[in-house]
Amino acid sequence: MKKMGFGPKFIAMIQLLYKSPAARIRINNMQTESFELERGTRQGCPLSPLLFNIYIEPLVVSKRQDLRVAGFGVMGKQDRISLYADDIQFFLHQTDSTLPRVIELVNLFCHSSGLEVNWAKTTLLPKDELRGLPDDLINRLSISETMKYLGIVTSAKVQDYLQLNLIPLLQKLRSKIKIWQRILPARADRISIIKMVMLPQVLYVLRNSPISIEDKYFRLIERLINDLLWGRKRVRLKAVYFSMPYKQGGLNLPYFKGYFLASQLCLFDDWENSYFCRKLVKDSGFLDFFTVLESDYLLNWQNHYKPFCRMAMKAWMVIKSWFKVRASLICTPLWHNLKLLNLDDLNCQQYWRNKGINYLSQVVENGQILTLVELKERENVGEVAWYAYFQLRSALFCISDNHSLNIDTPVFLQNLIQNKDDMKVKISHCYRHLMEKIFGDNLSPGQKSWSTSLLGLGPPNWEKVGNSLSQVSHNFNHTVVQFNIMHKIYITPLWLHRRGLAASSGCPRCGDPGADHLHLFWECPTVSKYWKLVLRTLTQRLTIDIPLSPKLWVLGDLSEINCQAMKGRLLTKMIFLARLLIGYDYWIIL
Ligand SMILES: [Zn+2]
Repeated sequence: MKKMGFGPKFIAMIQLLYKSPAARIRINNMQTESFELERGTRQGCPLSPLLFNIYIEPLVVSKRQDLRVAGFGVMGKQDRISLYADDIQFFLHQTDSTLPRVIELVNLFCHSSGLEVNWAKTTLLPKDELRGLPDDLINRLSISETMKYLGIVTSAKVQDYLQLNLIPLLQKLRSKIKIWQRILPARADRISIIKMVMLPQVLYVLRNSPISIEDKYFRLIERLINDLLWGRKRVRLKAVYFSMPYKQGGLNLPYFKGYFLASQLCLFDDWENSYFCRKLVKDSGFLDFFTVLESDYLLNWQNHYKPFCRMAMKAWMVIKSWFKVRASLICTPLWHNLKLLNLDDLNCQQYWRNKGINYLSQVVENGQILTLVELKERENVGEVAWYAYFQLRSALFCISDNHSLNIDTPVFLQNLIQNKDDMKVKISHCYRHLMEKIFGDNLSPGQKSWSTSLLGLGPPNWEKVGNSLSQVSHNFNHTVVQFNIMHKIYITPLWLHRRGLAASSGCPRCGDPGADHLHLFWECPTVSKYWKLVLRTLTQRLTIDIPLSPKLWVLGDLSEINCQAMKGRLLTKMIFLARLLIGYDYWIIL
């Protein structure tokens, strides 16, 4: 540490911590006697990984500085080594000379540091045929076609990624499903399992994918979720409706495609600062990465950046289609833009660039080209030569017929493009925005069905109904019960009868032959009497006017109630409990 330039005080502090390190092992709340640690760092101490980094640094430095050891070169940059604690990956070129040298370096480091290499766990993943290696080396190292690094299996063929990583993971999860179904009968718990166990594992594999993920893989994931949620029963409601936000009447079940896209969006920020992107932005002459994406520069030009940015491009296109963006975006560039090719022929292009005019949004407003006066005022460009302005204007006129002068960027995308800090927000923030967008006008079957049986139940009512979902109870099981009522998942006599599973479609309480959800929860005379009783009690206790309407009593739509927010929340909970009792009563009779 002294050689690396750490101060004496800091080193003394570390020495004090490690003067006579001792540890105890805890097994089921019992602790063993303490014993002295002779080597290694303390387990679970936040300092340990940092110390280890310092400790392993000489090896890394020696590898980097050794000119005889060439790394993998891509576009003028060399990848030589990647480390995560003691998990080390070397990238080597011309292995006949570099591999023996690296092993020499590693041995030297081990000899002086006391570390040991686990040769049994060391594998060699050749990209091409190996030549000219000494026999004893080949015998000692296992040569394999795949290699696992940080939980991701890599192979020389990039296109095998999903087969090697996602498919085995889904198989592993599938084998666990049976156990989960046995020990977790409630659907609420199964949803929690998906959120806590499946999501992180699957997302890790998806995020690290070097190739784009086709929809068929997302369908495999969805099938797995359906199997877990429904078991052997018939699927009554697709997993995607469980994924809608509460506001739209869903249960916030993870929607994997949405999470994947959100994670790609968050990666944009890393990319912007990456070596490739800086080079790409410089080479293309654009201002930033979004401009590059928006100009179709990568899409149509066969260039060497394509493999690195393909994922970003695809994600950007899908997200734009989700947001139904048809007009130009605020970051649409004026120059080098394949959609505005005639602007590239202008000989005054450099003139405008020098004045800082680079985006379509700078010269256009409400679909109209700015006048020279407006342009001067807004962009502060100083004196402008007339000929340059007219050239620009006539070039823009040529494209103005097909709405391409309209600029429309949805707020969320605009924030993403303009406010780079916003991109650091975590995946869940992006995910929430995306989800609200894609389910914006997507009606669930339950909503359609209730809208036909209860006249006048429009989208504003449904939003109230959706909001009640998260308010009915702190118990997630109850939320799921309300969800089941909203989406008509409970089985009624009418449903059974129609499928030939019950002799009669009669109501178990009054014998009415049309026992559907509306009848069981509202129209049945017995239930009607019960609701009137509940209404009388609640009106007296809460001292508010409560209308006797099925929208409120069956679905929890509070839009006709005018009262304090607190009383509203209380009312939602009380009515839900009353509703729950009808449900229990019905199930007991059935
Ligand atoms: Zn009845």
